[in-house]
Amino acid sequence: MHPFSYHPAVSIDDALRALAAPDAAPLGGGTDLLVAMKEGLAQPQTLVDLRRIPGLRDITLHDDGSARIGAAVRLAELAEHPGLTARYPALAQAAAAAGTPQLRAMGTIGGNLAQRPRCWYLRGALPCFKNGGADCLAERGENHYHALFTAGPCHAVHPSDPLVALAALEASVEVRGAGGTRTLALAALFEGSTRRAAGELTLTAGEFISAVCLPASAAGGEQFYEKLTQRAAWDFATVSVAAHRRADGEVRLALGGVALGPFRVTASVEQDVATGGLDDDSIESLAERAMHDAAPLEHNGYKVWQAQALLRQAIRRLDPPR
Ligand SMILES: Cc1cc2nc3c(=O)[nH]c(=O)nc-3n(C[C@H](O)[C@H](O)[C@H](O)COP(=O)(O)OP(=O)(O)OC[C@H]3O[C@@H](n4cnc5c(N)ncnc54)[C@H](O)[C@@H]3O)c2cc1C
Repeated sequence: MHPFSYHPAVSIDDALRALAAPDAAPLGGGTDLLVAMKEGLAQPQTLVDLRRIPGLRDITLHDDGSARIGAAVRLAELAEHPGLTARYPALAQAAAAAGTPQLRAMGTIGGNLAQRPRCWYLRGALPCFKNGGADCLAERGENHYHALFTAGPCHAVHPSDPLVALAALEASVEVRGAGGTRTLALAALFEGSTRRAAGELTLTAGEFISAVCLPASAAGGEQFYEKLTQRAAWDFATVSVAAHRRADGEVRLALGGVALGPFRVTASVEQDVATGGLDDDSIESLAERAMHDAAPLEHNGYKVWQAQALLRQAIRRLDPPR
């Protein structure tokens, strides 16, 4: 581990000043960053701890159904907060499905979204595209846990469970930087993630996520999160699904374990699920349509079957037979 300094920021401005230094990085619970530093994947000189900044650990539920979740809120709080579990059960279930009790007690939602992929080539310090190399080593290598959808060159997947629920709930993030505050849709936060070598997010130097925002449409309706893992405990999803039939009847479906960022199922499938009145054959064909553009590699074709199985199950739950 290389030497580094630790700066516990006391305000947004204090954090921005500290993050303006070259090679400074935001710190949440440190459950990924410290491991990445030991692996040599990250070499920040200063860690700027965001957890003491007033407001960053607040959960604010608004009367219209929307909410603001500070970036330093821990996953355990997301899983257990009575207001969140009642309004946004898919998010609470996804947070509860992440890692172990210890990881959820330390890991923050900001750090969870910004964590690096678990690809063994990247984590093994091999010269893959994201590690100074020219190509993705997984593409023709050991790609059992890799993506079904990528714009290339990287074939890693994003490891987050909460990201999948946030995608189905159409969350956005609030970002702070020297230039002020901006709000980004999740798709914009991860735009070009497979082509960006140094990280997955579109944040510029010195910026950090200050909050996750849920729109009013995210509250209530029928919503849930399901995750498939190779082991029964503390494992990353091979594939997962978040499903939401909103109060206005519209349907949102997102998959995890298939791409290096949020992945929403094609809108025409969501619309057909919303229309309802589905029988087994139409559910089967909707699940197939949802995965039509999947491009499995040599060892991860099983993920297509897993995604279709999760989607069939989710569609049945959203549109129970009459
Ligand atoms: C064994 C193991 C199993 C796991 N299983 C799962 C799982 O099943 N599902 C799952 O979702 N996750 C899983 N994780 C990942 C874990 O949830 C993340 O490590 C955790 O959420 C990261 O949060 P943190 O606050 O500790 O981030 P940190 O480690 O502090 O930071 C991670 C990265 O985010 C950056 N960062 C931190 N906060 C911000 C911010 N506000 N804005 C911008 N950048 C920021 C840091 O600079 C760093 O690059 C697992 C991890 C381990 C080690």
